[in-house]
Amino acid sequence: MEPVIGIDLGTTYSAVATLDAGVPLLIPSRAGARLTPSVVGFTAMGERVVGERAQILGDEAPDRVAPATKRFIGKRWSPQLEKAARAVVPYPLLAGPQGEVRIKVAGRLMPLTQVSAMLLGELKLDAEAHFGTAVSKAVITVPANFDEGQRQATREAARIAGLEVLRLLNEPTAAAMAYGLVNSFQGRALVFDLGGGTFDVSVLEMESGVYEVKATGGDPQLGGDDFDARIVQWLLAQVPDLHREAVSRDRVSMQRLRYAAERAKRALSDQPEAYLSVGELGDHSEGAGDRLCQLDTALTRDFFEQLTQPLTARCLEVCQQVLDAAGLTARDVEAVMLVGGMTRMPLIRQLVTQFFGRQPVTGINPDEAVALGAAVHAAELASRQGQTVLIDVATHTLSVGVLGGTVRRLIARNSPVPASARETFLPGRTGQTQARIPIYQGESEFSDECTRLGEVVLSELSVVNRSEVPIDVTFELSNEGTLSVRAVDTTTGMAEAIRIEARTTLNPAEVDTLSLEQAAYSAQQAEKDKVLAIQTFPRVLDKAERLVRLLEKSAEENPSPEADSAVGQVRALLAQGRVAVKVGDTAQMAEVTRLLERLVALA
Ligand code: AMP
Repeated sequence: MEPVIGIDLGTTYSAVATLDAGVPLLIPSRAGARLTPSVVGFTAMGERVVGERAQILGDEAPDRVAPATKRFIGKRWSPQLEKAARAVVPYPLLAGPQGEVRIKVAGRLMPLTQVSAMLLGELKLDAEAHFGTAVSKAVITVPANFDEGQRQATREAARIAGLEVLRLLNEPTAAAMAYGLVNSFQGRALVFDLGGGTFDVSVLEMESGVYEVKATGGDPQLGGDDFDARIVQWLLAQVPDLHREAVSRDRVSMQRLRYAAERAKRALSDQPEAYLSVGELGDHSEGAGDRLCQLDTALTRDFFEQLTQPLTARCLEVCQQVLDAAGLTARDVEAVMLVGGMTRMPLIRQLVTQFFGRQPVTGINPDEAVALGAAVHAAELASRQGQTVLIDVATHTLSVGVLGGTVRRLIARNSPVPASARETFLPGRTGQTQARIPIYQGESEFSDECTRLGEVVLSELSVVNRSEVPIDVTFELSNEGTLSVRAVDTTTGMAEAIRIEARTTLNPAEVDTLSLEQAAYSAQQAEKDKVLAIQTFPRVLDKAERLVRLLEKSAEENPSPEADSAVGQVRALLAQGRVAVKVGDTAQMAEVTRLLERLVALA
């Protein structure tokens, strides 16, 4: 069977995993790392670099890389968004033809879905190198609070990357699946997911393979980047007056400060004080001369915790809101599962422990839980064994706009999905020939405080008397959070499906072009990976030979049927590996490597 993978496409880091003999396993990148920085860049020679190499390039040339693009994916461009982005990312945001966000990086104008596709493509290549064969099916995770547009954009990115999405899975649900499997936990769990850009909280009921989400919530504007931004502000205040203005306007300098801040923040999770040294701060634009300055300072953990106090307090506020929505108290929660790199911050662990009156569950790295859970679900969907049942909830309230600037709610937030609702509306005015039914998403009762998703237009109405032309509107929300809307003029039976105007997906021709470009790149990389696999495999065989000798020796000293069987297994793998070398079969080589690793891990 073709292997399937789970992908956590994170704001700052991404990861890919698979289910290996029933155990969720993180697939290392081809560079040997467990996590891949979610950064794409282009060198001065025009070469594409992704992940670690892009992160390193960003240290030297922040204007050549695109980090944290997930913050803007699937959103409509607006001057406010562009302004807010300036505080957190080094690249400018521009409006595309569909109102979507594009970014300018290393002189290239790119749709955000292309950037995500490059990241997904890299993870796909990592998985293909791991399996030695093509991989095309994945479960991809998204924050629970991602809206319709953001989910569509993630699917578009997958399409460009040549991946079939088995399902988009909410990140907290994925993490609960991984924790649930590894700890054989059953009961009421709360997932506390503080990542690079967003904060998600979900309460789930987990009972013999049934995962029922009771409530979900979060703050889409709260994440590790905000903690970094607080440090950056503090650093900026220490830049000499003469340079401060120029530094704060200079994208390169601001990115240097952000990198230093993020590193210091991580160091403070393990030590009480961090030293920061940031050079070449000032105006980097051409002709600005070379009036650059250097900043050397130290940050203590205590002071960092004070600087970020409003952010940590906000995390607990959100937990309370989600508990309220689920009708529970903190003490009702039987397991707290931490997800996201930011939950390594000691104060967060301490506050969570105090708030819930219990230690968080351990056993899985918080930054790997989501990918591992996605892999568990991917295997489940691919095998269609139906051992787990997933009951998720609507993450936003979905409504129809009515007269007077208010909305009528059809599907309430936290309703179990799939969900459907039907309501009858009467067109506004007598004599009207067309009914426009606007669709909104959001929690406010006022339409201008909600996000407009689009509208259904029913034409050729003949409204003589308002009450004579009732229009039936049906909302259907799929188990993945995708909404479809239908409106029917009940007098004529004429129906219309929604035209989602707010959708920012690219036109199909551009998607095709980008897909071809990505496929060509992947094919080239896969060829290089194959050559590399053939070159490095003899080292695996050497290792296997050493292992056989070791096992033979120990079988001689302590004879047992188990010891003989271990020798036999490694010998068989060695033989299989030698055949693979003879015929140049990289899939076979990958399998031998994987099985050997599994044996070594069990030994
Ligand atoms: P995610 O990609 O969702 O795991 O979250 C990444 C966020 O976690 C980024 O803001 C990182 O800076 C932050 N992070 C990663 N490791 C640590 C650490 N050891 N201590 C504090 N924050 C961390």
